[in-house]
Amino acid sequence: MQSDRTTRTYPAIVIGGGPAGLMAAEQLAEAGIAVAVFDAMPSLGRKFLRAGIGGLNITHSEASEPFQQRYAERQAEIGKLLATFGPGEMHEWCDALGIETFVGSSGRVFPNEMKAAPLLRKWLGRLRSKGVKFYTRHRWCGWESNGSHRFETAAGTVEVNADATVFALGGASWSALGTDGRWAKPFAERGLQCAPFKPSNGGFLHDWQEEFRRDHAGAPLKNIALSIVLDNHSLWQQKGELIISDYGLEGSLIYAASRHIREAIDQRGSARVCLDLQPERSKSELYDLLHKRKDSATNHLRKLGIRDTKLALFKTLTSKEQMQDIKKLPALLKALPLTLTGYSPIDNAISTAGGLSFSELDEHLMLKQQPGVFCAGEMLDWEAPTGGYLLTACFAGGVVAGRGAREYLRNSQA
Ligand SMILES: Cc1cc2nc3c(=O)[nH]c(=O)nc-3n(C[C@H](O)[C@H](O)[C@H](O)COP(=O)(O)OP(=O)(O)OC[C@H]3O[C@@H](n4cnc5c(N)ncnc54)[C@H](O)[C@@H]3O)c2cc1C
Repeated sequence: MQSDRTTRTYPAIVIGGGPAGLMAAEQLAEAGIAVAVFDAMPSLGRKFLRAGIGGLNITHSEASEPFQQRYAERQAEIGKLLATFGPGEMHEWCDALGIETFVGSSGRVFPNEMKAAPLLRKWLGRLRSKGVKFYTRHRWCGWESNGSHRFETAAGTVEVNADATVFALGGASWSALGTDGRWAKPFAERGLQCAPFKPSNGGFLHDWQEEFRRDHAGAPLKNIALSIVLDNHSLWQQKGELIISDYGLEGSLIYAASRHIREAIDQRGSARVCLDLQPERSKSELYDLLHKRKDSATNHLRKLGIRDTKLALFKTLTSKEQMQDIKKLPALLKALPLTLTGYSPIDNAISTAGGLSFSELDEHLMLKQQPGVFCAGEMLDWEAPTGGYLLTACFAGGVVAGRGAREYLRNSQA
C-alpha cells in the first residue's frame, strides 16, 4: 500500500519564522549549512510586523546592568545570551542590513522608518541570497515515534528529518498571528518541563463606574506614577503613562508592573496598586497648596493640573467626604488606591510568561535530553517589559541557538 506521506531530509531546519528563528537560520546559513525554515502561517514574521505598527522598539540604550535587570528572575539566563548578542550587536546588525536606527527620548531604540516591514523585507532577501529555503503553511504537530518532525500542510502530512533543529515557536498570545502556544503539548508529552503560559505586558481589570467608563475609556493618563507593595514588603514604583480602557487599565506603565500585579492576583485574587497623580510634588507641598484654598476642592485640584480624565478618576475613586477633607487630599493625590481584579485575556497580551524551562537546556540552548535540538525566543520561560527588551532577547536566543546548532553539526561530522 502506498503511503500518503512525503518525507524530506535536511542538514538543519528552523521551526518558527519569527525574529528568533530567522536569526538562528542566519547563523547556520552564514556557515554554509543548507537550512530550511518552516512556519505554520502563509507568511513569516507576522508578530514582528505587528510589533512594528505602533513603532518598532528594537532594543534599548540603557547600560548593561539595568538592561539585564529587566529580565528579573531570568536575568542570569538571559544575561548569558546578551553576552553573545546584546544591544550593541543588535545595532551593528541593523547597520549591516542597511537599517538606520535612532534613540528616542525615553532611551528606546527604533529603526528610522519605525516599522518592521522594511527591515523584514531586507532580511528575508539576505537570507534567500544565502540559500535559506522557506516553507510556509507547514504546521509542526509533534514528533513521530522515529524522532522525525510531523508537519500538517494543505497537501497532507510531511515528515521531516534533520540533523539539527532549532525551535522558535513563540509564546501564546496573538494567536491570529500564528503564536498559539499549541507546541507546548507535544513538548510536555515528551517529558519536557513547560511552565503554564500567563499574560505579560497586558491589561488588568477594574470595574469602573458606568459614567466614568462611558466618558473616559480610551483616554490616556500622563505624568503619573504607579506603585505596588511586593510580597517582600518592598515598594515597586515607576513613573509613566496609562490608558483607561473599558475593562480597566492598559498602557506602558501597567505593562512594566504586570509581573507584580499578576503575581498578586494569582496569590490573593486581586491586586492593590496606588496611583500618584502629582509625582513632581511632595505631600507637604500639596498640603500647603491645598490649605490656602478658598474655592471648591474641584477648582483647586484643577489649578494643580488635575483636570479632565485625571480629575474624573480622582472623583470616581474617592468619596464625597474624602473630597471635602483637606487633610486627607494630599495623601490621596500621592497614593490613590485602585484594586485590579484580574487580567485581560492572554491572547490580547503583548507577550507571555511561561514556556519551556531553562532547566531543560544547556548553555547553547540545546535540549539536554535531545542532542541536536535547540530552542530560542519567546517560547522559553522568561518575560520582560516592553521597551525593546523582548526583541533583543529573542534575537540573542536565535544567535546562540543557531551557533549552537552550527557547532553541533560541525562536531558530529568531525
Ligand atoms: C502588538 C505588539 C507589539 C509589540 N511591540 C514590541 C516592541 O516594540 N518591542 C519588542 O521588543 N517586542 C515587541 N513585541 C513582542 C515581539 O513581537 C515578540 O516578543 C517577538 O516577536 C517574539 O519573537 P519569536 O521569534 O520568539 O516568536 P514569534 O515572533 O512569535 O514567531 C514565532 C513563529 O512561530 C510560528 N509557529 C508557531 N507555532 C507553530 C507551529 N506549530 N508550526 C510552525 N510554526 C509555528 C508562528 O507562526 C511565528 O511565525 C510586540 C508584540 C505585539 C503583539
